[in-house]
Amino acid sequence: MLRRLSSLNVSRMRGFSALVQTKALVNGNWIDSCSRQTFEVKNPATGQVIGNVPDMTVEDAQQAIDAAKQAYESKEWRALTAKDRSNMLKKWHSLIEKHAQEIAEIMTAESGKPINESKGEVVYGNAFVEWFAEEARRIYGEIVPSGQPNREVIVMKQPIGVAALITPWNFPLAMITRKAGAALAAGCTVVVKPSEDTPLTALAVAKLAEQAGIPKGVINVVTTKNAAPIGELFCKSPDVRGISFTGSTQVGKLLFRNCADGIKRVCLELGGNAPFIVFDSANVDKAVDGAMASKFRNCGQTCVSANRFFVQEGVYDKFVTQLKERVEALKIGDGKSGDVQIGPLINKMQYNKVSGFVEDARDKKANIIVGGKGLQEVGELFYAPTIVTDVPTSAHIYTEEVFGPVVSIIKFKDEAEAVEKANDTKRGLAGYFYSENLQQVFRVAKRLEVGMVGVNEGIISAPEAPFGGVKESGVGREGSSHGIDDYVDIKYICMGNLKYD
Ligand code: ADP
Repeated sequence: MLRRLSSLNVSRMRGFSALVQTKALVNGNWIDSCSRQTFEVKNPATGQVIGNVPDMTVEDAQQAIDAAKQAYESKEWRALTAKDRSNMLKKWHSLIEKHAQEIAEIMTAESGKPINESKGEVVYGNAFVEWFAEEARRIYGEIVPSGQPNREVIVMKQPIGVAALITPWNFPLAMITRKAGAALAAGCTVVVKPSEDTPLTALAVAKLAEQAGIPKGVINVVTTKNAAPIGELFCKSPDVRGISFTGSTQVGKLLFRNCADGIKRVCLELGGNAPFIVFDSANVDKAVDGAMASKFRNCGQTCVSANRFFVQEGVYDKFVTQLKERVEALKIGDGKSGDVQIGPLINKMQYNKVSGFVEDARDKKANIIVGGKGLQEVGELFYAPTIVTDVPTSAHIYTEEVFGPVVSIIKFKDEAEAVEKANDTKRGLAGYFYSENLQQVFRVAKRLEVGMVGVNEGIISAPEAPFGGVKESGVGREGSSHGIDDYVDIKYICMGNLKYD
């Protein structure tokens, strides 16, 4: 039995290690940092070190920008047709599909995400590669009827050049493919700066891009644990023509400011504070399903996670009772086991934030009806799935994005009150509501101040749909045909003095 187990582990490790890269990718070379420094990548479920990657410097990042610029201008990229680029993306897509299990294992090991969710993310993230492989051939221009007889008004879309992509740890693959897929489809080249918590997934997919025949320098990956100076370089370098960032509002604002001088294209996908409204007219069973999916995916660490649950008086008791039963049944542990639904929080900072927010709510006399504590017996970064009711509007769990497995419930009387409270935030990424009343559905969907609305649905992201926010949740859209817009410039060509007769 022991021998069988150990041979199983070895073969699993082989599969795992084949795609694990411990060097960064610049100009087609897998390299160390010029400082020779590295940093550790840890499994948040166990605290174990699972790899070391280069801690790259501003000098390294500059080389990556130079490589991306050179690749952008090279014949191997610029001379390609949209169909050629599409075919390369298709090859990348099929390689990611082929290695889905290995990538998912790497992702679970470095992010703590339950393995089934990691597999789901590979499918979801890879769908953007497929989508943009298709979109690459549809970046149409226009010929607009001219106001003058001897002119033609031609509008075409051209790639912006080098794009810097800064991505977070909560979707280590999808946030890269959603940006890089669009950028490459448009004809740009990229420098990716993945999160310091999850660089291994990024390097693994970059390896597959190389195998897919994407030319050297088109995708560069810079790993670092000191993001700020590299972020500043991206913003200030005239050779970087656009920045796409997914992460905290605080860092997004900093990047936005730093890009002002160079009037740089910026796409920002920042934090949310998603309302989840359950009206008396709702199908409560469906609302509970949606609440579980929206709140507990990735242990609540998604920017579209429902953050404030507003539940109408008539269905309040039923909704809370059913939700409590479901939350108590969640299986918590190391995400590598197939039956685990809740993994650890990503790091100590995140753990302290979540537990601090719950303590703040407790101090402000909210009711903690489930959870409300750390689970050190499982691991240092595990926090119990928690439900807090009677949440005062002054509590941090009400005003801020929790990014953890905490449900905050507020009772309301009527639709106007719910909509007003839902909109009473500077953020506007996603919003959800449950109602079987058609009139109410259209009224509320139009009034919610968010970029994305889930009506009777808790999981709404898809490659075909535009992802993005309003207010302080960001600018720009990812995915869908609009996802290309941030990577192209519109050029107007006036063809004058034409002789038609
Ligand atoms: P989170 O709270 O989700 O970790 P962050 O905004 O801190 O969000 O991180 C998202 C990404 O932004 C990561 O890749 C991180 O390394 C990077 N980052 C953090 N600080 C900066 C910065 N000052 N400039 C550029 N990138 C940054």
